[in-house]
Amino acid sequence: MLLSTKLSEAFNTQVNAEMWSSNLYLSMAVYFKKEGLNGFAKWMEAQSKEELTHAYQLINYAIDRGGDVMIGQVNVVPTAWGSPVEVFEHVYKHEQHVSEMIDKLVDIAEKEKDHATRDFLFGFVREQVEEESTAKNILNDLKNYGDHHYGIIDHQLGKRE
Ligand code: MG
Repeated sequence: MLLSTKLSEAFNTQVNAEMWSSNLYLSMAVYFKKEGLNGFAKWMEAQSKEELTHAYQLINYAIDRGGDVMIGQVNVVPTAWGSPVEVFEHVYKHEQHVSEMIDKLVDIAEKEKDHATRDFLFGFVREQVEEESTAKNILNDLKNYGDHHYGIIDHQLGKRE
């Protein structure tokens, strides 16, 4: 069963969104590097690479299913934030938005009665639960420990490979 035109288009949109996310986190990595928060920067770099992996997973799945994959233009991402708290508020909000996008993709797969795609996308549904939870936890840590304890969190986040 080939990927329907509707699903193919929706996959292309999602691929573009994952690439945009990758650039967003890369931009956040640059922000943290400029602020001298190298642990935060390392975490963001890993996050940026993970988003690109998501794009590749979607691309490869769509190609396997005979989808019409097209790589489009990626819009510009923000380059400045006021504080690490502001960055992670943005991350949390963004991941909630991505979860909504994935849910809509699942809705389309269900409408098209494409069970294989529905099953494939559930991996992304689960991933989003983790993404939202991680962002929320870091945001809470930042708020709880306050401005003078970025060092501890920076050290923790820097452990991410
Ligand atoms: Mg993603």
